[in-house]
Amino acid sequence: MDFLAALKITEKNSGVSTGNSSLPAHGELIVSHSPVDGKLIATIQAADKNDYETVIAKAQTAFLEWRTWPAPKRGEIVRQIGDALRAHKEPLGKLVSYEMGKSLQEGYGEVQEMIDICDFAVGLSRQLYGLSMHSERPAHRMYEQWHPLGIVGIISAFNFPVAVWSWNTMLAWICGNVCVWKPSEKTPLCAVACHNIIADVLKRNDVPDGINGLVIGGREVGEWLSADSRVPLVSATGSTRMGKAVGATVGARLGRALLELGGNNAIIISQHADLDIAIRGSVFGAVGTAGQRCTTTRRLIVHEAVYDTIKTKLVAAYKQLSIGDPLDENNHVGPLIDKDAVIGYQKALEACKKEGGRFIVEGGVLEGKGFESGCYVKPCIAEVDPHFNIVQQETFAPILYLMKYNTIDDAIAIQNGVPQGLSSSIMTLNLREAEQFLSANGSDCGIANVNIGTSGAEIGGAFGGEKETGGGRESGSDAWKAYMRRQTNTINYSTQLPLAQGIKFHV
Ligand code: NAD
Repeated sequence: MDFLAALKITEKNSGVSTGNSSLPAHGELIVSHSPVDGKLIATIQAADKNDYETVIAKAQTAFLEWRTWPAPKRGEIVRQIGDALRAHKEPLGKLVSYEMGKSLQEGYGEVQEMIDICDFAVGLSRQLYGLSMHSERPAHRMYEQWHPLGIVGIISAFNFPVAVWSWNTMLAWICGNVCVWKPSEKTPLCAVACHNIIADVLKRNDVPDGINGLVIGGREVGEWLSADSRVPLVSATGSTRMGKAVGATVGARLGRALLELGGNNAIIISQHADLDIAIRGSVFGAVGTAGQRCTTTRRLIVHEAVYDTIKTKLVAAYKQLSIGDPLDENNHVGPLIDKDAVIGYQKALEACKKEGGRFIVEGGVLEGKGFESGCYVKPCIAEVDPHFNIVQQETFAPILYLMKYNTIDDAIAIQNGVPQGLSSSIMTLNLREAEQFLSANGSDCGIANVNIGTSGAEIGGAFGGEKETGGGRESGSDAWKAYMRRQTNTINYSTQLPLAQGIKFHV
């Protein structure tokens, strides 16, 4: 496969790197099979604890120098990385699609997201502003400035195997931090490829070796990072189960955790919606990436007046879906990541039926030619009661739950009535209900859209969610502040020492 060669992926790869070069690894052998056709792509030697220690030590040393580089100079490195990613967009996009299973268009889109965040970070490297304040004391000056934290540990999920890492890393770098990445063990080659692409840029610019640590391994590597007080910030993307564990461990040492966890996203379709947009947004949101986006549409809350029409249109739209090899651009839906995910999907279907769910588009596992990997499933739709247990949970698969509402207040209550709080939307042309949905007594999610589905965020906005989604914000807006420490400075240029609040103290 040409794209592997272009990314310098060989049969056997090391899962340990300090950035400028990969190091020998001593952990278990990870075997990466493609969910597309079940074939072996390559192997990766994972890190053991000693390898981890080597990477952390190198990162600590690199930080001492990297933090002294002016931020715009750090931005220049990120600019060159953006160019390197542009040059590798095609092979990296193909690898993302082949190792993770998302469509080729989405694979390319993910690399484009990396390029976009590089551009954003370059501009930001000249805009790490602090405020200046008026002191209550005469001849005093007060301001705040932002300094880097040190090592940022990044734990990432399989479903965005490269973009989420870059959201964190590009921002962390321009802020003056060094990064250590623990990618998902389900998509390790995507991580190796990113490191290979970037190593040349780092070496060419004499960037201190250690700013771009890579430690591939299972969840234990994530646990090492979480417990490590040399890592002031752990940014973790994955399931709520994982986030609760990471949050507790990092919290116990009073470190900082940036958590991007599971979603259970809904679209409200009002009787005032443009039904064509509503259907298209819902179908893409529900079946795109085979339902394996954190922002996947899992629930459709439909007004009773348009419920039957929506139902008919959805069933018709699902009939048009073609399932198969995601590298073939004629297909809409690719495989799930692995057979465990297929089991999770089957269990959810059973649970839904048991609770009384009625399937209007039946699910099932596909077999036969083209489906040999055993990871292809049918996107399905069930009519449910919003309070079913299964509807409260995130099943990482293309299962769409359909429910009815009567008033906009009810719809918002149903939308908010789950433990997660990532993405939400309303399809309506009615200004009043759109604004109500966006108001403080509207959606309780980190993302709330109007006439757009729940998935497909742009990098310019801060990305993340509330409640069991973890509360973290990454990417655009002022998310960069999570990667820095704020220092408040007060400077006295008078000949006196006046105390704040007018306190008198004479010696
Ligand atoms: P996962 O939780 O199984 O694994 C994510 C990462 O955490 C992996 O690298 C894994 O090795 C590591 N990990 C697992 N347990 C750990 C522990 N106890 N301590 C430290 N690290 C641990 O998730 P997944 O199956 O790879 O990804 C799917 C999940 O990720 C979904 O819930 C999805 O919604 C979520 N996700 C959220 C966002 C977001 O931005 N909110 C983005 C992508 C994915």
